[in-house]
Amino acid sequence: MGVILGIESTAHTFSFGGVYTNGKTIPSSSALFRPEQGGIHPREAADHHSLLSGNLFKEFISKNHIPVNQIDAIAFSQGPGLGPCLRVGASVARSLSDKMGKPLVGVNHCVAHIEIGRLQTGCQDPVLLYVSGGNTQVIARNGSRYRVIGETLDIGIGNMLDKFARTQGIPFPGGPKIEKLANEWEKSNPSASLDEIILPYGIQGMDLSFSGILTAAVQKVSDGHSLQEVCWSLQEHSFSACIEVAERALAHTGKSELLLGGGVACNERIRDMAKLMCEDRGATAFWPEKQYCVDNGTMIAELGRKMLKHNIYTKLEDSAIDPSMRTDHAEVVWD
Ligand code: AMP
Ligand code: MG
Repeated sequence: MGVILGIESTAHTFSFGGVYTNGKTIPSSSALFRPEQGGIHPREAADHHSLLSGNLFKEFISKNHIPVNQIDAIAFSQGPGLGPCLRVGASVARSLSDKMGKPLVGVNHCVAHIEIGRLQTGCQDPVLLYVSGGNTQVIARNGSRYRVIGETLDIGIGNMLDKFARTQGIPFPGGPKIEKLANEWEKSNPSASLDEIILPYGIQGMDLSFSGILTAAVQKVSDGHSLQEVCWSLQEHSFSACIEVAERALAHTGKSELLLGGGVACNERIRDMAKLMCEDRGATAFWPEKQYCVDNGTMIAELGRKMLKHNIYTKLEDSAIDPSMRTDHAEVVWD
């Protein structure tokens, strides 16, 4: 059976993944760029990706016993993302496609988060709460487009968590450590009240914002609140805001499935909140395995598979990256 290869390189992660033509997933081999200090510099991340890509590809095919001639097509993230990082993925994809004589498929990274979630969980027509490093969007399908019906007006929620973590000396990615600290606080303070540590709740209509809560959280630590308590409050406030917009999206669209995607969807607390909210309104919450919440090549392969089934390929001359590609740029012709 043929394999669709997927290459992810929108930001911090370079990853090869795959999916068999029958929809069976092949786990990704990924490398995460962790800056020694400060945030992610696009050029440094791109250097990291190009340095590791050769060995990562070898690891992916040998670990999963994939003969190179079994690869039917090469899908890659065409956007949105950091230009220098996207360019590495696109170049690797073009050269593999040329060498193997197999077609290229440029895919929309945000849509790939939806399609891997649908494949893995079996949900049909969800509202997607896409919570990742650079993106925070609430998305729903309307005809042949995935429409963005709410999104952050400033930074992504993961970016906010990572930046807060960085101010406290916690290296990238900060989200998992914040979750750990918040859990510790909750365990040792079972009757903790948010009234004691209120943070801004950034919702405007269907849109969200996170830069205010970031500044306020840093201030709370300076004011003497413990880091664990601030992490707990930060999660409670920022996740509730996302879940509130997601609930409104379910109400407006009349859909009854909520799908979580993006790296922040690895967090058990946001999963709990999603489940509770959905149960309250007779809906169902879904999320893929953690390896498929964070950026990964497998999700790129899965979207590539769906596009190829409908004969959508990308010609070499059309394979330029698009750092500001939008979720609703992609025409969705598959079920
Ligand atoms: P992505 O951009 O989709 O690959 O996701 C990366 C983002 O997910 C980073 O901002 C991480 O800090 C965040 N992240 C990963 N795991 C967790 C977690 N358990 N809780 C909160 N954020 C997380
Ligand atoms: Mg992503």
